[in-house]
Amino acid sequence: KIYNQMQDLKGNIRVYCRVRPLKRQPNSHGIVSNVEEENISLIIPSKNGKEVKKTFTFNKVFGPSATQGEVFSDTQPLIRSVLDGFNVCIFAYGQTGSGKTHTMSGPDNITEETVGVNYRALRDLFYLSEQRKDRIHYDIFVQMLEIYNEQVRDLLVTDTSNKRYPFFKIRNSSQNGINVPNANLVPVSSSADVLNLMNLGQKNRAVSATSMNDRSSRSHSCLTVHVQGRELASGNNLRGCIHLVYLAGSERADKSEATGDRLKEAQHINRSLSALGDVISSLAQKQSHVPYRNSKLTQLLQDSLGGQAKTLMFVHISPESEALAETISTLKFAERVS
Ligand code: ADP
Repeated sequence: KIYNQMQDLKGNIRVYCRVRPLKRQPNSHGIVSNVEEENISLIIPSKNGKEVKKTFTFNKVFGPSATQGEVFSDTQPLIRSVLDGFNVCIFAYGQTGSGKTHTMSGPDNITEETVGVNYRALRDLFYLSEQRKDRIHYDIFVQMLEIYNEQVRDLLVTDTSNKRYPFFKIRNSSQNGINVPNANLVPVSSSADVLNLMNLGQKNRAVSATSMNDRSSRSHSCLTVHVQGRELASGNNLRGCIHLVYLAGSERADKSEATGDRLKEAQHINRSLSALGDVISSLAQKQSHVPYRNSKLTQLLQDSLGGQAKTLMFVHISPESEALAETISTLKFAERVS
């Protein structure tokens, strides 16, 4: 039932907002006054000293007490559709520290209850493919890429110190849905296989982080699970994929501080996030021209944004008053794409 609802809704684009719990710091005070099914209200101080309440609407809002299971439950139908031959993108958007990693992977010490969307999605994918095995044979492959300063790199390599660690071209004309054919494409047969690869990819991101100012929040990373199915009775083939995308932190560069490399990084991030916003909002408004070519991220995901593909954007906000400016800019981004 939810699956049908999703197909009917807004050209397959859904935007969920998640607000994390307030940090336990003595001076932190919250600006979120109310969270309901589809609405979130903020108390915003105005120039004349009064406070203004502003409400934003989404397909769904998850408050600070929402569990990982609750957050995933609305995502589940998407996983089934990957095995039915659709392309799916799940994005985590928000400023650094707003909860992207928590939603996608979980907290540092993960338990059965606290694991994030990634693990749950993979577990369901393999569980459902197993259930269908008398009818459909599935081959499943994984790629994991990073986009840093508009350059695409493979995260599934064993030696990142190798001088030949190359940048890759994106090709959207491929027949098999693999847009970066030169990057490693690893066959997997269980969610444990994928988790091991994810750990390798995360480690490769982290390696660069020590030398590059916490690079992991300054780059986008994309785990893609490609699914190729063959119906045993008819011999028909189907193909679907799911992209799990951790976007770079959406915070604006502090204009007075950012110079040189840091400024360049920030400009690349801001530009690519607005390019993503432009693509999704033009799809949501059913415009005839969709500007995929404006960033590497949207080129990479072109086959999976628009058309029959399904998009889910988790927009994260921090509830502290210090984060107000970023929170407003995040909510504006989210309104534009929904
Ligand atoms: P990001 O990936 O956006 O930089 P994180 O996911 O690392 O942010 O979140 C920052 C901190 O807040 C982490 O310590 C994380 O465990 C915690 N946190 C985030 N979201 C939640 C949540 N929904 N419930 C509890 N803790 C959370």
